[in-house]
Amino acid sequence: MIVSDKVIIDLTDNFAQVGEPIEYSCVCDLDDGLLPYPNASLAKTEVRLNVTFVKPNVQAEGTIVCLIKGFCDRCLKETVRSVELPFNQTFYKDSAPDEDGYVYSGSRLDATKAVCDEIVVSLPMSFLCKPDCKGLCPKCGVDLNERQCDCDTDRENVFAALKNLKF
Ligand SMILES: [Zn+2]
Ligand SMILES: [Zn+2]
Repeated sequence: MIVSDKVIIDLTDNFAQVGEPIEYSCVCDLDDGLLPYPNASLAKTEVRLNVTFVKPNVQAEGTIVCLIKGFCDRCLKETVRSVELPFNQTFYKDSAPDEDGYVYSGSRLDATKAVCDEIVVSLPMSFLCKPDCKGLCPKCGVDLNERQCDCDTDRENVFAALKNLKF
């Protein structure tokens, strides 16, 4: 299977069925640079949309599923996660009413930029192996999800220790 780096929707069927949603789906390989995570990459992106021709514009609504592979931001454990983002956009014929609007012309709708923008805006800021990952101890490096260490990493105690330093 050829995996494209673009999301291209052929509107031929939509033009024949005004007002009727038509299912569209594709798997694509988008730029890893979209991710805010230093240690993870975008393995694949699946786009599932209902595309409706609401003369003269096109409405696309559905989900973007990002498969992300890499290492947890906190504990560095190898992590694979599938993140679903809702998508709902209008594509204006030939020109948009404002500069943030997306456009299409002819029977070929290129939704790549709209999908990429949604990923950039909607992904959570951290890539975690689980929502409550406790991370690594900053002193001894033990994985705090697996066991507790005896290190004293309490903030107040760190400040107390600083106070007691003699110069
Ligand atoms: Zn983790
Ligand atoms: Zn420790």
